[in-house]
Amino acid sequence: MSEDQHSPAPLRLFNSLTRTVEPFAPIEPNHARVYSCGPTVYNYAHIGNLRAYVFTDTLRRVLLWKGLDVTHVINITDVGHLTSDADAGDDKMEAAARASARSIWDIAAHYTQAFKANIADLNIIAPSEWTVATDYVPQMIAFAQKIAPAHCYQLDSGLYFDTATVPGYGALAGGRDDAAHARIDPVAGKRNPSDFAIWRASPPGEQRQMEWDSPWGKGAPGWHLECSVMSEARLGHPFDIHTGGIDHREIHHPNEIAQNQAFHACCGGTVDAATAGFTGARWWMHNNFLVDRSGKMSKSRGGFTTLFSLTGRGVHPLAYRLLCLGAHYRSELEFSPENLGAALTRLKRLVMAIEALKARAQGVTWQSPRLDYLRANLHPGLAPLLEQFDAAISDDLMTPRALPLVEEVLGMKKVPVDERLCLIAAFDHALGLNLLTLARADLRLAPADATMTPAEIDAELDRRQAARADKDFALSDHIRDSLAARGVDVMDGDPLRWEWRVALD
Ligand code: AMP
Ligand code: ZN
Repeated sequence: MSEDQHSPAPLRLFNSLTRTVEPFAPIEPNHARVYSCGPTVYNYAHIGNLRAYVFTDTLRRVLLWKGLDVTHVINITDVGHLTSDADAGDDKMEAAARASARSIWDIAAHYTQAFKANIADLNIIAPSEWTVATDYVPQMIAFAQKIAPAHCYQLDSGLYFDTATVPGYGALAGGRDDAAHARIDPVAGKRNPSDFAIWRASPPGEQRQMEWDSPWGKGAPGWHLECSVMSEARLGHPFDIHTGGIDHREIHHPNEIAQNQAFHACCGGTVDAATAGFTGARWWMHNNFLVDRSGKMSKSRGGFTTLFSLTGRGVHPLAYRLLCLGAHYRSELEFSPENLGAALTRLKRLVMAIEALKARAQGVTWQSPRLDYLRANLHPGLAPLLEQFDAAISDDLMTPRALPLVEEVLGMKKVPVDERLCLIAAFDHALGLNLLTLARADLRLAPADATMTPAEIDAELDRRQAARADKDFALSDHIRDSLAARGVDVMDGDPLRWEWRVALD
């Protein structure tokens, strides 16, 4: 193989700022700094929210695969996010506290812990740091004081950012969309529909659970302010990549960018051509939505699907991760019980095939060696697959192209087993599916409300197998029907003999 074929593919990432795929190089050599907008902890994350973090984790793993150190910050929004992204309505945290008669702090602690449990179950590498919005209020006030004279104005309801002071406001969203902002509940007195709250004054005579003193009276910070302040506090300015869901490309992130430009503008705070580049992050990346045609994906409307509800029905969380990786992060992904069931079956097949290889292996450990070592020492039969994998994930994280390469490695019957396992371990560093440690038994999670244990199901299947061997089809059908009545679908003809699954709906 020529030198060229051995050299790694350059990493290219889609930048929402330019709407193009660009070659990625970190600002500091060998070190990438990444900030991801985190959850608003007034409720459980739905599985759509979690797609955003499977995406950031894939990004992080690919940066690591490319040999970079990564500092990754995810924030916890425990104040400031209103029921409408554009400053209308109630604070989501205050509203949740009122509805449940619990303190905001209790609610935040409960849902933060639940979110971290989801992150761990999805094998998402914990961020280098979780930043919590309420820990940064003094810094937010200081930031607001600096930008207020040239960019803000005060109304009874608080301090507002005048988006007309920033030429090119909204470029990330594809331009200023006053009509869209005007459709959102207007706040009386705003100069422009897209202006947004920097500080929200507590209404006279009303005490909020969370409020702080400020030069603009008692109140609470605006949601957009927190991410500008925390990202810069932990990652500096500029840093490399800022991520979020595609909805953030329209309001939250343009507002962060406007704040950053205002903060870094010199000479009286005027944002001009020289300061327009102070967007905070060089790259802004957005995952597309997970959609559910049955409408079960709105955190504020309730009745949504959580990872807990999937695991409660016996689905391994990494099946959901595999479902996410099967689609490119910039494509919409439709969620359905069938899609999830197919991902679970694919994961089972992978795990069973790997278990079979492990049983035949010489007993080496399959820790991935360094990529350059792997490149130099890999069995020649596998080298093209390694290069294809590297090319796929380097091409704006094309996981749908990378995944079938795992199956291809498994199918390389002429290559020694240990060599194949070694390459799969390396791939899994980027995919995060725990392919080498998951066992078939782990994937047979019993649903929380199961009426039968896996051992009982297996015993019934053995009885059915025996009945079929005796050509007693009446008994075999009876066993099948009674299993179905208890929520266990028996799948005949599965070549891998994974003979049952728990019905998903
Ligand atoms: P939130 O907790 O509402 O602030 O959202 C957390 C993250 O989930 C944000 O990055 C959102 O953009 C993202 N998000 C919200 N809904 C979806 C969805 N259906 N699919 C993918 N990402 C989403
Ligand atoms: Zn944010």
